[in-house]
Amino acid sequence: MKICVIALIFALILAISSASRINYSGNLVLRAIPETPEQLEFLRDWESASSIDFWILPAAVKQFADIRINAESYANVTQLLAERNISHKILIVDLGQLNKKEQQNIALRRALYNGNKAIDVENYHTYEEVMAYLTDLANTNPIVSLKTGGTSEEGRDIVQAIISSDLSANKPVHFFDCNIHSREWITGATCIWIIDQITSGYGSDPEITALVDQYDWKFIPIANPDGYAYTWSTDRNWRKTRIVNNGSACIGVDVNRNFLAGFGGTGSSGDPCSNTFRGNVAFSEKESSALRDLIAADRGRVKTAVSMHSYSQMFLSAYGYTTDLPPEYPEMFRAMEIAVGALTATYGTKYTYGNTAVTIYIASGVTTDHYYENEGIVHSYTIELRDSGTYGFQLPPDQIVPTAIETWNGLKAMINAI
Ligand SMILES: [Zn+2]
Repeated sequence: MKICVIALIFALILAISSASRINYSGNLVLRAIPETPEQLEFLRDWESASSIDFWILPAAVKQFADIRINAESYANVTQLLAERNISHKILIVDLGQLNKKEQQNIALRRALYNGNKAIDVENYHTYEEVMAYLTDLANTNPIVSLKTGGTSEEGRDIVQAIISSDLSANKPVHFFDCNIHSREWITGATCIWIIDQITSGYGSDPEITALVDQYDWKFIPIANPDGYAYTWSTDRNWRKTRIVNNGSACIGVDVNRNFLAGFGGTGSSGDPCSNTFRGNVAFSEKESSALRDLIAADRGRVKTAVSMHSYSQMFLSAYGYTTDLPPEYPEMFRAMEIAVGALTATYGTKYTYGNTAVTIYIASGVTTDHYYENEGIVHSYTIELRDSGTYGFQLPPDQIVPTAIETWNGLKAMINAI
C-alpha cells in the first residue's frame, strides 16, 4: 500500500515536471556509415556547420555516425544521404517513447528505494540530489571532503569529491571528470557508484582499503552542472553548457572542445549552433577553467586522469588533435589493453581502444590532451561507456551497476599495472 502511494506521488511529480520538457515524440536516431573519404567529409561538414544533432560524430570511413532527427525531416535527411550513396539504418524508432520509459524506470526505482543513503546510487539523480549526497557523505565519512573548483555560468558549484585517508601525505592522485557532456547521464552515475564503492569499502574491503591507503581519489561527478540541470528540467538531449553566445541565438559551448590543446583545430566547430562549438578562445568557459584549476592544483601528483563519456564503448588516449603518437604511446597502449581486458572479462562488454585521433576521430581542445600535454599526465584517458547504440544516452538505470562494475574493474586493473 505504502509503495503504491509513493509510486502515485512520483507519477504525479513526473507528470508535472515533464510538462515543460521537450517532447521527442517521433524523433528517430539514424546510423549512417560513410564508405568513402568524400562521404565522411560530407558528414563532418554537415555536423560542423549546422545544429543537426549527431549522437556519435562522424569519425572515419566504415565507422558509424549516429544522427537524431525529427519525424518531419526524415524524408529530407534520408534523401540527402541517398544522394551521396551513404547507407543508413534506423537505430531508435521513437526517442519520445525511450525518454518516457526512462522517466518511468527512474520513478519506479525511487519509489522502491529504502536504503539509508541520501540517494540510491543505482539510479539517476538531479544535480541537487547529487550535491546533497556528496554533502552528506562528507559530513558522515571522515575520509571524504569536498572542494568547489568554481561556479558554472548560472552559478552552480562545480564540486570535486576527495577521498583521502591522509590529505597531508600528498599521495599520488587518481582524477576523474564526469558528465562534462550533460546528456551522458551514465558517466555521472558511474562516478557516483565508484565513490560509493570506495567510501563504503574502506576499512572492510582489503582491496579498497589498500587503494585508499596508497592513493587520493578525486571525482567531479557533474562537471557541467548547468547543462546537466537542463537535461532534467527541459531537454534530455542537451550536450553543451548553457552560456548565451554573443551574436547568436544558439546556446552553449562544448566544454570538451574548450581546452588549450590544439584548440580551434579539426573536430571542433566555430559555429555556436554546432554541438561541438569550441567557444571563442580556450578556457573562455567557467566550466573548463574550473577543471583546469582543479587538476592543476595537484600538478605532479596525478597518476591517472580519466574523462568519462558515453556512448560507444571505447578506451582512448592522447592525442585527440593530431594523429601523431606521443612518445609514451606504447606504455599508454599497454595500460589500455590491461584495462579493457579486465573490463571485458567482467560481462563480455566489447571495447575498442587506442589513440583518440587514430581510433575514432580528430577532436581538438579536449580534456585528455590538456591533461597529457599541459599537465604531463601520461595516463590520461577518455572512456566512452555503454552502450553501442540500443539506448544511446538513455541507458536504463538497471545498467548503471553492471556498467560501473565493469568500468571499475578495468580501472583497478590498470591502476595496479602502472
Ligand atoms: Zn561526451
